[in-house]
Amino acid sequence: MIRFDVITIFPEIFRGFVSESLLARGQKKKIIKIALHNLRDWTTDKHKTVDDKPYAGGPGMLLKVEPIFKAVQEIKKQLRRRIILFSPRGKKFIQADAKRLAKYSQLILICGRYEGVDERVADYVADEVISVGDYVLNGGEVAAMAVIESVSRMVPMFIAKKESAEKFDHPQYTRPEVFEVKSKKSKEKSKRKILWEVPKVLLSGDHKKIKEWREKYG
Ligand code: SAM
Repeated sequence: MIRFDVITIFPEIFRGFVSESLLARGQKKKIIKIALHNLRDWTTDKHKTVDDKPYAGGPGMLLKVEPIFKAVQEIKKQLRRRIILFSPRGKKFIQADAKRLAKYSQLILICGRYEGVDERVADYVADEVISVGDYVLNGGEVAAMAVIESVSRMVPMFIAKKESAEKFDHPQYTRPEVFEVKSKKSKEKSKRKILWEVPKVLLSGDHKKIKEWREKYG
């Protein structure tokens, strides 16, 4: 079993995500475990302050190192663990990382917010810094969700059909063979019919040709 420990100031964002579909099934079958931790639980002041102004100036606030350090210290349980910080400046996350991270027993996922996180978290607390793409999100929560899903798919027994777990498929079609669309744009009274068809080769019954098609587009 692999456990994901998410440190966030918005744990509610994850509620639906962790309780639906394959992630819900994976937790029920004890293949994965997802624990949500509110960073504010590791603050000491009455306002539960998690952020402060950057020394270098500029707009916005940074998440402080202290509550994150304390949270990680308390949460880290497994020996085979990896502590991950999310940042748009991190190393780009790819399928090979999902496969690599699935070998750990515990992933601690630190979600940044506001203008980001005190750099000492990247330097001294995290084992690695991950970016999910060259764009800026409001917080690390969506990045954490992407990592949880893609890593879970690499855990044995999580996906029923093993071959579909990490493959980038060829384009897929299902019934009907022809989908008829009635165009509203047409000025003619009788609306123009547009037909969206499944590629002929897939309906041919010729297994050799279908295999070639799959290889070409897969
Ligand atoms: N200028 C800030 C920086 O460079 O870190 C942007 C902060 S962003 C608004 C707030 C948080 O969202 C970041 O600390 C990070 O945790 C998360 N985040 C934003 N974009 C991300 C991305 N592409 N990949 C991973 N995490 C991201």
